[in-house]
Amino acid sequence: LRANISVIQKETGFVNGLIAVLHDITEQEKIDMERREFVANVSHELRTPLTTMRSYVEALAEGAWKDEEIAPNFLEVTQNETERMIRLVNDLLQLSKLDSKDYQLTTEWVDFVQFYSRIIDRFELAKEQNVRFERKLLDQATFVEIDPDKLTQVLDNIISNALKYSPEGGKITFKMVEEEEMIIISVSDEGVGIPKDNLEKIFERFYRVDKARTRKLGGTGLGLAIAKEMVEAHGGKIWARSVEGKGTTVSFSLPYLQTEEDDWS
Ligand code: ADP
Repeated sequence: LRANISVIQKETGFVNGLIAVLHDITEQEKIDMERREFVANVSHELRTPLTTMRSYVEALAEGAWKDEEIAPNFLEVTQNETERMIRLVNDLLQLSKLDSKDYQLTTEWVDFVQFYSRIIDRFELAKEQNVRFERKLLDQATFVEIDPDKLTQVLDNIISNALKYSPEGGKITFKMVEEEEMIIISVSDEGVGIPKDNLEKIFERFYRVDKARTRKLGGTGLGLAIAKEMVEAHGGKIWARSVEGKGTTVSFSLPYLQTEEDDWS
């Protein structure tokens, strides 16, 4: 059952009525609706960079190519848009693989402390912003059965968001704790944060809190949706906590059974 509620409000701000429309939607209708919405989103996401590119290429063809100052700039825009489309299509391919029934993980036993550290190292070396990294990982080897490629992508998506939304001079904290039969991995930033009502939606396909801004930052709106599918394929969960203006923590869990061998170390 879905309810659409409209509030009737006067210019003075007084609410003088509510209209509630109740829809009963079956599971199939819901799937159909989601599919249509997805196709509409994909089309829109592809059309935006394409129309931008068309107008820049047109301007170049009409003579801007002769201008030594304008031409490189226009070419750069076209290049960025092309790259964004490639990212988008790659993300879409990932999702369609995840959706297919014969989707399988290629798992191995990995010490997650070392695995996580290497990924953080890579970001620390490559980062261009002035952002400090703090690590609070477990201090002993912790073996979990994972698909390393998939979890690398999960962490890449989460960490690149943390960097994207971090302010100059901010700190990113990487944590890993052990809880009952689970390890919990989290990445916290000191960025803009996410409004409470949107916290669950950020894991939906194409959901962005601020469409214009995040598109400018190069996002596809699919990163966390992919991360969610991948974590769930491992039997884990993913969630976010945030305080607007203070920062965001994105966490996920992975099943972890402490074996007796671990106790020997
Ligand atoms: P995108 O490619 O747009 O980053 P994601 O699926 O990775 O897509 O994230 C969805 C949306 O969630 C982003 O557009 C952004 O609005 C919000 N978001 C994700 N991570 C953060 C973060 N660390 N701080 C603030 N907002 C975030």
